[in-house]
Amino acid sequence: MSDPLKPPPLTDDCFALPAGTHWTPVAEAHAMLKDRLSVVVGTETVALHAALDRVLAQNVTARRANPPEANSAVDGYGLRHADTGDGPQTMSLAAGRSAAGAPFQGTLADGQAVRILTGATIPDGVDTVILQEDVTTDASRIAFHGSLKRGANVRRAGEDVDAGDVILAAGRRIAPADLALAAATGVSELPVRNHLRVAVLSTGDELAQPGEAARSDQIYDANRPMLLAMIERFGFEAVDAGRAPDDRAELKRMLDRAAEAADLILTSGGASAGDEDHLSALLNESGAMTMWRLAIKPGRPLALGMWRGKPVFGLPGNPVAAMVCSLIFARPAMGALAGEGWQLPDPMMVPANFTKGKRPGRREYLRARLRDGKAEVFSSEGSGRISGLSWAEGLVELPDGACEVAPGTEVAFYSYAAFGL
Ligand code: AMP
Ligand code: MG
Repeated sequence: MSDPLKPPPLTDDCFALPAGTHWTPVAEAHAMLKDRLSVVVGTETVALHAALDRVLAQNVTARRANPPEANSAVDGYGLRHADTGDGPQTMSLAAGRSAAGAPFQGTLADGQAVRILTGATIPDGVDTVILQEDVTTDASRIAFHGSLKRGANVRRAGEDVDAGDVILAAGRRIAPADLALAAATGVSELPVRNHLRVAVLSTGDELAQPGEAARSDQIYDANRPMLLAMIERFGFEAVDAGRAPDDRAELKRMLDRAAEAADLILTSGGASAGDEDHLSALLNESGAMTMWRLAIKPGRPLALGMWRGKPVFGLPGNPVAAMVCSLIFARPAMGALAGEGWQLPDPMMVPANFTKGKRPGRREYLRARLRDGKAEVFSSEGSGRISGLSWAEGLVELPDGACEVAPGTEVAFYSYAAFGL
């Protein structure tokens, strides 16, 4: 009798993905996430100085125009353009002047000019300012050459911003220049989103905490410090939820705590369907789990679920895959949850400085950096190579289909900075 236990047929390596499984393309996963995620954080109103780097909760409109009234762009002399002509000419000076914060009080008589300083209100009747460097004066008259351009050196009221204009759009991350714009237009407080709190939980019996003695069969937890730092760079609040052993009850308790402390939970490891993949098992039990076999390299399994009302991203354990999946899936998702909106960076198209033949089926991300305007990639694609993550300054993205890259081929490069790192 022949043995009923038979090995599987040899896989034809031409097909990068096992047949019979639906491999979710990256674009499809993006579309689903974008569709399902919405803002989960509340709003508060804070003073300008406290609004830096916060996400704007509503459109903000100018309370007053900038400038609020016409003022001078230079130090010089204000006059009526109609009183001037071509060639050399003189005008008498009115007594007094218009300075910033101390406008001219009198009335300008016909044919007169008035001393005016930068930022000072344009007196009634004045429509043009001549630069002081273009004038000679004896304190009672000025002499200059025409012709002058009507309206020269005058900043019109509202030429920058009109009262009621939208100055800052909801979803924007407040930058220093935005504070200048808000202040200038009479806005002293901004409606901002509360910080998105993101918990990071590592899983695995093999993990030792950096700084502690490790057995030879243990590895140090590399994902947690990386993911916590990424969250901070993204401008969210990172919550260290610790390391869970490969024990279902303990993992459950730790997930409970993380769900209480955060709006979103990122876990790494235990996300596949192996014996010790307790994360996916728990999410499955809770009934709210989607396991995506993503058509992406590195990082195939991504477990998505809800735990006590909080979304959970079950990232791959492998640090390279964990980072790539965080940048490509978790980062835009965090934006959607935080009120920034779903955002993916635009790639920079650059010539490759490497050679690679890529099979169809999976979108691929290579650890890369730019040198002399060309993308070079880390020598090994082994997804356990953490040194390559650190060597790299960004990722090269190769499309889902097959492609051949040779030196000079244009490839899509995303710097870490473009993701907000
Ligand atoms: P898992 O998905 O749990 O089977 O993990 C996949 C691989 O990633 C294994 O080699 C794990 O040891 C490794 N791994 C999991 N979590 C971490 C971590 N936090 N830091 C470094 N490596 C990890
Ligand atoms: Mg594990």
